[in-house]
Amino acid sequence: MTKTVFIETYGCQMNEYDSELVRSILKKENYEIVTDELGADIVMLNTCTVRDNADRKVVNRVHEIKNRRKPDPVLVGILGCMATNFKTKLLEDPNLGIDFIAGPDSYKQLPKLISEVTQSGDKSFDITLSEFETYSDISPSRDEGVNAWIAIMRGCNNFCTFCVVPYTRGRERSRDPESVVDEVKRLVSAGFHQVTLLGQNVNSYRHDATDFADLMAMVSDVPGVERIRFTSPHPKDFPSKLLRLMADRPNICKQIHLPLQAGNTRVLDKMNRTYTKDEFLALVDEIRATIPGISFSTDIIVGFPTETAEEFEDTVDVVRRVRFDSAYIFKYSERPNTLAARRLKDDVSEEEKTRRIVVLNELQRAISLEKNRDYIGRVERILIEKDSTKKSDMDCQGRTDSNRIVIIPKSDYRIGDWVTVTITDATPNVLKGMPI
Ligand code: SF4
Repeated sequence: MTKTVFIETYGCQMNEYDSELVRSILKKENYEIVTDELGADIVMLNTCTVRDNADRKVVNRVHEIKNRRKPDPVLVGILGCMATNFKTKLLEDPNLGIDFIAGPDSYKQLPKLISEVTQSGDKSFDITLSEFETYSDISPSRDEGVNAWIAIMRGCNNFCTFCVVPYTRGRERSRDPESVVDEVKRLVSAGFHQVTLLGQNVNSYRHDATDFADLMAMVSDVPGVERIRFTSPHPKDFPSKLLRLMADRPNICKQIHLPLQAGNTRVLDKMNRTYTKDEFLALVDEIRATIPGISFSTDIIVGFPTETAEEFEDTVDVVRRVRFDSAYIFKYSERPNTLAARRLKDDVSEEEKTRRIVVLNELQRAISLEKNRDYIGRVERILIEKDSTKKSDMDCQGRTDSNRIVIIPKSDYRIGDWVTVTITDATPNVLKGMPI
């Protein structure tokens, strides 16, 4: 009998992509993917372990699933970063009742793991990290939309001291460029307008002699690709060759996510980020000189161990000087097994972390608002991605090349339409527009 599977995804875009891979692997083995957890024989949680509350959310969710389904049995599996980070601890916890776990490089083993549990009743697991698995032979089972994510590399060699990814996802490995280009061609034929190249450390992509700039050029040459984005890069991998390509190619979006993490050079060194405050600022200047009008988003951690209030002011200074278009700002949260957890005491108080995050959020909101207001009166070409917004059925939502959300009156636009609009209003998070 066909078994039904429900997959719930937490965390980053790479996890969303991996869930698409898992759906494809299971469908091939005649599993049916369902959208209702209560109707599923098997529930899989594709997990994230970047922050402490992400772990807790998953543990609570497992309890909820098991309790709601009593007395009917349901198999529960944990996939993703929690699987590798907590390993068999998850299976050994009698209160959790997890039946199988699979790490990010073991998804092809899922049909085998499920059949082992079903046949023997014993728990099963595979958390082996591979130096070679890129899943380039699997075509992800995607939902319809305007953007398709394509993982071009997996893993990370950087070992930022706060980050668990090198331990949960293993070493860097890149897909063969031809397989990426073939996937892009298939996506264009399937009606996707935009592709986003994905990797934990996306711009360190290298396959034989092909580097990230070469791959971007190959993708940009595919007829019909209208927008190309990429995430998440590391500031150390932005050679001039890549910047010039971004400036020259109209279908490569003029937007870069450039994770700062901290503005103080001593803290950056403790984080093992391999750049200084001045080097980061110089890179921003070089990017702006090569690609005028580029938009920047960033990630920042406040309250990293040993960061003093004075050192935090360097982060404030960088935010003021760079004027990022948007920023994801987090309080430091110690993750088990990272170098920071092993070597440094989490010594910035919760109150101080809160103070710092409030300061930065207020500053960034003001900058985002000013930068968005600069758009008022401009003409922008947007790609419609949702046919209504959270607030109103009368509006729809599109995105500019610079990745800004624009809300416009709905009319009869459909997802995937291009609309030219005049920007009429702005908040820190969105623009409003009127079609021309
Ligand atoms: S570059 Fe640093 S933060 Fe990003 S995945 Fe690698 S170790 Fe983590």
